[in-house]
Amino acid sequence: MPTLEEFKEKLRRPLERELLTGCQNRVVSGGLDKLLENLGKPFPKVREILHGYGDLEVDARVERLKAALELLRGGSVSTSARPVSSPAQTPVNQTAVNQTPVNQTAVKPVAKPSSTPFPSAKPPVSVNWTLETETEKIPFGHGSTKKLHTLGLYKLRDVLHNYPRRHEDRRALPSLEDVEDGEKVTVVGKIVAKKRHAPRPGMLVLEATLENNFGFRVKCSWFQQPWVERFLKEGSRLIVTGKVKRFGRSLQIGVEHFEEEGESSLDTGRIVSVYDGKDGISQTFLRQVTAQTLSSTPISDYLSDAFRKKYDLIPLEHALNAIHFPVDEAQLTQAMNRLRFDEYLFLELRILLQGEDSVLLGKRFAAEEADMNAFEASLPFKFTGAQKRVVLEIAADMRSEQQMARLVQGDVGSGKTAVAACALYMAAKDGYQGALMAPTEILARQHFQNLQHYLFPLGVVVSLLYGAMNVKDKRAALEGIRTGEIQVAVGTQALIQEGVEFNNLGLAVIDEEHRFGVQQRRALLKSRPDVLVMSATPIPRSLALTAYGDLELSIIDEMPPGRTPVETKLLYDTHRQQAYGFAMAQIRAGSQVYVVTAMIEESETLLEIQAATQLFEDLKQILPEARIALLHGKMKPQDKDDTMRRFKAHEFDLLVSTTVIEVGVDVPNATVMVIENAERFGLAQLHQLRGRVGRGTAKSYCILVAGDTTQKTKKRLKVIEGSTDGFAIAEADLKLRGPGEIRGTRQSGIPDLKLGDLVNDVDIIEKTRDLAKSILKGDRALERRENAFLKAELQARSSVVAVREVI
Ligand code: ADP
Ligand code: MG
Repeated sequence: MPTLEEFKEKLRRPLERELLTGCQNRVVSGGLDKLLENLGKPFPKVREILHGYGDLEVDARVERLKAALELLRGGSVSTSARPVSSPAQTPVNQTAVNQTPVNQTAVKPVAKPSSTPFPSAKPPVSVNWTLETETEKIPFGHGSTKKLHTLGLYKLRDVLHNYPRRHEDRRALPSLEDVEDGEKVTVVGKIVAKKRHAPRPGMLVLEATLENNFGFRVKCSWFQQPWVERFLKEGSRLIVTGKVKRFGRSLQIGVEHFEEEGESSLDTGRIVSVYDGKDGISQTFLRQVTAQTLSSTPISDYLSDAFRKKYDLIPLEHALNAIHFPVDEAQLTQAMNRLRFDEYLFLELRILLQGEDSVLLGKRFAAEEADMNAFEASLPFKFTGAQKRVVLEIAADMRSEQQMARLVQGDVGSGKTAVAACALYMAAKDGYQGALMAPTEILARQHFQNLQHYLFPLGVVVSLLYGAMNVKDKRAALEGIRTGEIQVAVGTQALIQEGVEFNNLGLAVIDEEHRFGVQQRRALLKSRPDVLVMSATPIPRSLALTAYGDLELSIIDEMPPGRTPVETKLLYDTHRQQAYGFAMAQIRAGSQVYVVTAMIEESETLLEIQAATQLFEDLKQILPEARIALLHGKMKPQDKDDTMRRFKAHEFDLLVSTTVIEVGVDVPNATVMVIENAERFGLAQLHQLRGRVGRGTAKSYCILVAGDTTQKTKKRLKVIEGSTDGFAIAEADLKLRGPGEIRGTRQSGIPDLKLGDLVNDVDIIEKTRDLAKSILKGDRALERRENAFLKAELQARSSVVAVREVI
């Protein structure tokens, strides 16, 4: 079947010849009426304009021909802001509006004609169409404003960026006799019969029989959609999309999408856009409004030719035309590529501008290689390749005068703390102070011990500071921090409270499991130290680049040698006894056990605490020999710390816990982790929990107790059973659950992407990030003239992009 373009060409040529030869109606045998009968089908409006051509005077012929050609050429006659369905409107003008995009989608930019083909017709309103024009200013037709507002389309820019949910290939719809069982099809036909029946009470089925010109029929059905009934009018033509099913000898389509076949050429004979709609807002309406907007609104590109060339992008105007009205698949792909690129580019620009601190000046360290080597030489082990790489990345940041803002990710036990210690050492060697901030006292103590272990032999003075310290020690610590005698301060929030004055803070390390508010962190950072954030929650790179977009990323993706992976086993809750039998055996052998019972959330519900308490009571009955403790989020911080400390000291054998924040504590003697209702956790969370065992030399175990037996649960939990690579698990989690469910990003907000797909877009994200950086490098506030469009667009794209503020 010829394409629409070919049809158009076939029609256009003779019409041009007719105009050139004086409108004698002789260029085709039978006259133009005959020509249109054959070739005019895809262009009902052209047919309408030229209807009765043979009976017209020459002057009128000229005018009509020009109008028809204008349409076929795709020129815009709708520079007059003419309502699509205003009563005053002539069909001719509506035509113009409707058909414009057919040509607009051509890859060449479309020149906007300076005059309308109907000079006599005065535009009813004179609004200058720009992207920022409000839709209510444009009379798109009766009730249009309300409809558009319902869909959240307030400005013409919103209309153009209201991308189709999907596209449907209606270039050549299969004939009704060609549909086959099992296929998903789009077909068109006339309704010849309809029926409503209720096979069971409370169940409603609507049926319509479609017939084509040759008398072939197919039944269409809608299940439980009473509102459809008013669209099923005998004699009207429907385009339906759905899956074909054979029932006995007849075929039936289970309708997923349908619309009345419009007069408009936007609805058929091409690749058609399908928009997210609401009841009462027709696809035809949306297409027409979009087409009219496209043809009447000047669109200038904010990306220069050079950038477009570099990233292989088509011009913005073409992309917007083609995403709504693509001529073919290739064009649609190009359009998506361009618009998706832009989506990420503005996201990255916003992130980089928001984290504007990161481009400000920080501390400049010597960070000499010799210091690194001295540090490594003092260790009882050698850095892994990954640690070495990350240390070098950090050192490069430290040497630069820009403020470092870097996130170091790595599984629990991958050696992040050792890397941070090296950075703190380099800072101390340069005469700066360092700080390490942890969320709880017990974690601060643990970090303190570790850092002391690394840094004391090298002569660096490390000290601890937390709220509940005795007055004397605290005063000494504060004094040491103020004079600079203390080179590295490890602590809780107490580090950033009133009265803490650093002498010369150069580097702040923040343990990611913090619950520090932005303001609090800012306080520590007011002296603009370089900042290193450590995170043991592996998140996929694509997410890290967007959710934590204002940070540079370093990944430790290699474990120190000699670790035995934790053995992981999936059990159904009917077999839970086995899990506790096993745990008891380990306890008898001198090990300790964690039992985690609930989602790790800020908002721990009473129900979850009750469930944990119940399990705690039950286990005391079942395992009378074991010393069991309970930990939950509603306990006082002091009590939590106390319980954790006693567990670490092996005063308890088994810890029932609703939260793992405090479980970040190292208990090398713990070898078993039982996770109840494991299906309620994200895979990355499970992996992180699992990392709490296997910290010592003994072999360790993780038992996932699944509360349901669905395939979905099984599939997810098997990922954990089968892999110990945190990043692979995080990727799998992202694919299985979607970005909104990944821990640590829910509150912070995943960017609201229309075209982007975080699972698959890592490449494009990296590219746009690089571009955004290079643009901002030379023009931090986007003040240069060549960036004016870009800046305007950035401001105009006001859609909320919530970005986690780490610093
Ligand atoms: P993380 O902070 O990522 O949880 P740590 O830095 O605390 O990891 O390291 C975990 C354990 O592994 C510590 O006991 C540390 O001494 C040890 N370790 C770190 N790096 C190495 C290495 N390259 N080789 C051997 N052991 C290492
Ligand atoms: Mg650590």
